[in-house]
Amino acid sequence: MQKISMVAKHAKGKSEQDRIFGVNSAANKKAEIVGKENIVNASIGAFLDASGKLITLPTVEETMKNLSFDDLAAYAPIAGLPGYIEAAIDATFEDCKPDAFIKGIATPGGSGGVHHAVWNYTDEGDTFLTADWFWGPYRTMAQDLLRNIDTFLTFDEEGNFNLKACMEKVEALAKVQKNVLLIINSPAHNPTGYSLTDDEWEKLVASLSELANKKENNIVLYVDVAYLDFAPKESREFFKTFSNLPENLLVLVGFSMSKGYTMYGYRTGCLIGVSSSEDVINEFFDVNQFSSRATWSNCTRSGMRVLMELHDKPELMAKVKKEREEYRLSMEDRAHTFINEANEVGLKMCPYHSGFFITIPTQNADEIALKLQDDNIFLVSLKKGIRIAICAIPSEKIEGMATKIKKAMDEIGE
Ligand code: PLP
Repeated sequence: MQKISMVAKHAKGKSEQDRIFGVNSAANKKAEIVGKENIVNASIGAFLDASGKLITLPTVEETMKNLSFDDLAAYAPIAGLPGYIEAAIDATFEDCKPDAFIKGIATPGGSGGVHHAVWNYTDEGDTFLTADWFWGPYRTMAQDLLRNIDTFLTFDEEGNFNLKACMEKVEALAKVQKNVLLIINSPAHNPTGYSLTDDEWEKLVASLSELANKKENNIVLYVDVAYLDFAPKESREFFKTFSNLPENLLVLVGFSMSKGYTMYGYRTGCLIGVSSSEDVINEFFDVNQFSSRATWSNCTRSGMRVLMELHDKPELMAKVKKEREEYRLSMEDRAHTFINEANEVGLKMCPYHSGFFITIPTQNADEIALKLQDDNIFLVSLKKGIRIAICAIPSEKIEGMATKIKKAMDEIGE
């Protein structure tokens, strides 16, 4: 019998399985049988302690508790509280602020920024570009917003950013489309942990500027910095390359409080526009404010107020940074544990610099991930690899993991 469908044409057939939720449930079920302590659940993309509890920054929590409920519960302006926007811009760039016109719009996390960029800087039926290792929701948003996503090979043969592959796709798209939107997730890319070097950023921005200078296209570079605060301190230098760009090269930076401030569920982010043209920045502000009104209206005031407090009280922000640094170093420690063992047993990985995830490239991700569940290891399989959320497991559970993954790959095939 034919299934009844009531949705509009564009919504037909849209559905998505939450892979992470599925793997997490499988891990929890197995834990009931073998005991939680014997389970390695590296599926969740949040920073967890050894007992699987969410790690939060104590000073962020304290700052939130010190605010009055009527302050937290009130509406915020659609574009975000002005003090928050200023704080988000400062927290993003710190001392590497580009020389440009800069404005921001509050968004529900980093996701909201991607949504607005895709919606407002591409047309229906257009394609936008990103690297072939990418965060799945980019594709979901493409589909939901009636756009297409196309990718280029993230790495060259030496394991560096593949500028050549990237620019070939950008230039080909520029021939058939007026607006070219390119999303780059760096530093501490999800899912590989790669960060473009300053030199790679310079070359990318120079190539995009050259294309923009031909005046045939509008080029929009979206920089997804969701994991910025879990990369080393010097990871902001590249922002300076966004100074004095051609007027038709707009940079959008997606700031998020989800990871850096451990405020995942508070849905607080900021879409920051950077342009050498005041007109482009005013238009950026107007259209994105309009889209916010038309979608989620205003954003979560409590998240915004916390960042404003931290911005106004440098001693509090210093405490947050100190707490976060401790966690960042513990993540680094987890990563080293895995990488050292992977090198010892000859397990190939995507190049990792920092961040929440390490990825193993393989054509048989589903089979390998399933096989590892027999060893009580729960990982998320992607199209071209398996993702290990080192953020979710302590170092002692990481030991032995690379060996087991290598064994499963030897049995099943790479
Ligand atoms: N970008 C990337 C690459 C991510 O991994 C995430 C979250 O997992 C986000 C953006 C946005 O996160 P949120 O909307 O929770 O701030």
